[in-house]
Amino acid sequence: MKGSIRIDQERCKGCSLCMEFCPKKAIFLSDTLNVKGYFVVSFDEGRECTGCATCAVMCPEVAIEVFRN
Ligand code: SF4
Ligand code: SF4
Repeated sequence: MKGSIRIDQERCKGCSLCMEFCPKKAIFLSDTLNVKGYFVVSFDEGRECTGCATCAVMCPEVAIEVFRN
């Protein structure tokens, strides 16, 4: 199964839980600051996201939306 995610960067607090638990290492810490002053994570479309939704489940800020296609 293939998937993709959308990260709401204004909700993200850069805790990196999603990164640590993604089995495909498809999420990385960016050098972008959000309005709250946190470095936020981004999705690497070049990795093979499966749409497993582990990242969304782990995110304490409910900042990740998962799409399966
Ligand atoms: S849905 Fe799964 S594979 Fe895709 S970014 Fe999230 S944890 Fe990684
Ligand atoms: S788990 Fe949520 S709050 Fe933490 S870095 Fe990932 S998207 Fe941001």
